[in-house]
Amino acid sequence: MKDFYTLRDLENWDEPKIRLGVIGDPVTHSRSPEMMNPALRACGLEMEYARFEIAAAELASALPLFAAQGFVGLNCTVPHKVAAASMMDELDDFARTIGAVNTMQFEGGRALGCNTDGPGFSRAIREEFLVSLSDLRILILGAGGGAGRAIAQQCANEKCRRLVLANRDFDKARTLADRLNVEALEWNLSSTVLDEIDLVVNATPLGLQPNDSSPILAAAFAPHLMIYDVVYAPGPTRLLESAQAGGARTADGLSMLLHQGALAFERWFQRAAPLAIMQRALRSV
Ligand code: NDP
Repeated sequence: MKDFYTLRDLENWDEPKIRLGVIGDPVTHSRSPEMMNPALRACGLEMEYARFEIAAAELASALPLFAAQGFVGLNCTVPHKVAAASMMDELDDFARTIGAVNTMQFEGGRALGCNTDGPGFSRAIREEFLVSLSDLRILILGAGGGAGRAIAQQCANEKCRRLVLANRDFDKARTLADRLNVEALEWNLSSTVLDEIDLVVNATPLGLQPNDSSPILAAAFAPHLMIYDVVYAPGPTRLLESAQAGGARTADGLSMLLHQGALAFERWFQRAAPLAIMQRALRSV
């Protein structure tokens, strides 16, 4: 299997065992194949999962080719989540509400889209901190992005105790906050905001690059806080390092990656995903 395939490969497809994949641009950073292939093997499903580097302008040509080649489904990442939603024959309620898909299924000539980022986040928080979203006062940084919108919708669906949205482009935070009937704050947060918050979620890509700054000043952290960083960098991000130094409990985005993937697997195969195998595979990459 190649590190990644392209639209040209798909047009002359000669890898019949590959019937699942992740599409994005860029896509080489995705760890989904390392998680999904052991899961497929463990369940005796004789197919493979690969990366596809598909540019935004290629998406409309690529999706029918995946369907025609007998693909079971796809995951999608930046920049396709919103555009793909508009190309599906059917969307589940969550994907329709936020206007973005991260999982597609091809069935009987139809493309079905859903979004497992929000439910995957909820499972990740329960696993990492042993709490339910409904018990928490939650601040989301980067609420205007694809991951941030899915997380905000999930928090609202589960009726969390308080929901505060912040985004660099404030208008995006305010528009979403108005729809969900929650609070929006300017990006330059005062540290006192955290006094009335239990869980801070970083849904920005800050931390992906080693020199990225933390979206919150180090002095703001306190032991009552839980910090969830959707970024999964090889080491702890600046945000997680300074949160740990301030005594807060922390977790990185690998658990959300795991659970959104497990939910996609369940959707494709109508069976439980082998979570322990997927988790072990992810942690060993
Ligand atoms: P988007 O491009 O849709 O959104 C990015 C968000 O981050 C926007 O709110 C944007 O604000 C904000 N942002 C970007 N750069 C900065 C910056 N320098 N300072 C402050 N805010 C910034 O990306 P996604 O939502 O799809 O992905 C965000 C991150 O989440 C990525 O790192 C991705 O890998 C990760 N992710 C992890 C998942 C997991 O399973 N763990 C699942 C999905 C995503 P603005 O609106 O102002 O531009």
